[in-house]
Amino acid sequence: MTSPLGSVPDAIIVGGGVIGLSAAWLAARAGMRVSVVDPAPGRGAAWVAAGMLAPAGEAAYGEEALTRLHLAAAARWPSFAADLEEAAQDQVCYRACGTVAVAIDASDRTALEDVLEFKRSLGLRADPLSASECRRLVPALAPGIRGGAVFPDDHQVDNRRLVTALIEACRRSGVEMVSEEASALRRTPTGGVDGVELRDHRFLPAGAVVLAMGWRTRTIGGVPPEVLPPVRPVKGHILRLRGDPAEPLLERTVRALVHGRSCYLVPRLDGSLVVGATVEERGSDERLQAGAVHALLDDARQAVPGLDELELEECATGLRPGSPDNAPFVGWTSLERLAVATGHYRNGVLLAPVTADGVVALLAGADVAPVLAPFSPDRCL
Ligand SMILES: Cc1cc2nc3c(=O)[nH]c(=O)nc-3n(C[C@H](O)[C@H](O)[C@H](O)COP(=O)(O)OP(=O)(O)OC[C@H]3O[C@@H](n4cnc5c(N)ncnc54)[C@H](O)[C@@H]3O)c2cc1C
Repeated sequence: MTSPLGSVPDAIIVGGGVIGLSAAWLAARAGMRVSVVDPAPGRGAAWVAAGMLAPAGEAAYGEEALTRLHLAAAARWPSFAADLEEAAQDQVCYRACGTVAVAIDASDRTALEDVLEFKRSLGLRADPLSASECRRLVPALAPGIRGGAVFPDDHQVDNRRLVTALIEACRRSGVEMVSEEASALRRTPTGGVDGVELRDHRFLPAGAVVLAMGWRTRTIGGVPPEVLPPVRPVKGHILRLRGDPAEPLLERTVRALVHGRSCYLVPRLDGSLVVGATVEERGSDERLQAGAVHALLDDARQAVPGLDELELEECATGLRPGSPDNAPFVGWTSLERLAVATGHYRNGVLLAPVTADGVVALLAGADVAPVLAPFSPDRCL
């Protein structure tokens, strides 16, 4: 087996999803030689995602450290997006549009009021609104909604434009893209890792290896199972609808509680609307199921009835990299020169810039920022 590379790169990143590509681009910008191994870069969960950057909407009980990380990530987004657009010479459509959350019935309103109090206790901006205030902000809302809230700091980016721009920025900054599947890591006699074996039997040597394979991170060969953190696939159904950019149905994201279930509607500048998403524990099953599509559409149109007029363009599923505490794993493993960046679950797009900063710090021999430090790969082993 021989290396196709001229000399050994500082790092090989296995997995060119939103996490791996962001890390590769920033590492190359920092002057490192980087390769990304992925047969289909940008086509994992990041392609089907909604692109919400939602620290308030995603804040959950018992996840205070994760919420602090989400807040740091949201604050990092404007400069990350601006730098990326310049590097790629392309738009990612980062949109500081805020989010309105609405309740469909009285018990949804009670549930929403409870979580608002919790979110505000964490320092998040989450201001209650009456039903008419909601409709003033979002005229397309159903007349019967029972009230809601505004999350002024929950924004969005077009995730497909994002990964496309990341691939271009990687290319322009000299990242080598290797279009093949990684099959195993090669171990050194001292127990470290010195490169990656590919499905086509080539071997790529590397100064360090970063596993960023999303939910598949534990499928790489050559590593004892106890070294890698427990990530699992968590299925999500999601829909894309086409609207008229001249007369957009929505100007900001809507999150809706609909008789105890939740859904969201994310409007793009091109008039399209992303409606998501189910959260299902079904292993690696990616089948599109009629019942899930029906339930999502039905919930979303109860919040925004004008949805009925839009063209249904795409129904899709994706697999999020879930972790036992819903938080990512970013850091060195117990094997020398092997790091992981995975387990970003529902917020990998939001967390991509802070994760990439962390990976660059690790590769440079530094510590990750304190806000990322609680998310080491060994915390669930
Ligand atoms: C329905 C849905 C909606 C979502 N909405 C949002 C949202 O609004 N906001 C948000 O922040 N997040 C959202 N997410 C979550 C987000 O998409 C993920 O957290 C994020 O994509 C994880 O990034 P990743 O790079 O780890 O994984 P992925 O994006 O899945 O990328 C993994 C990559 O690894 C590659 N790979 C796998 N195995 C190998 C191998 N053996 N060799 C080489 N390459 C390999 C794959 O080809 C893929 O390109 C959503 C996810 C889903 C499914």
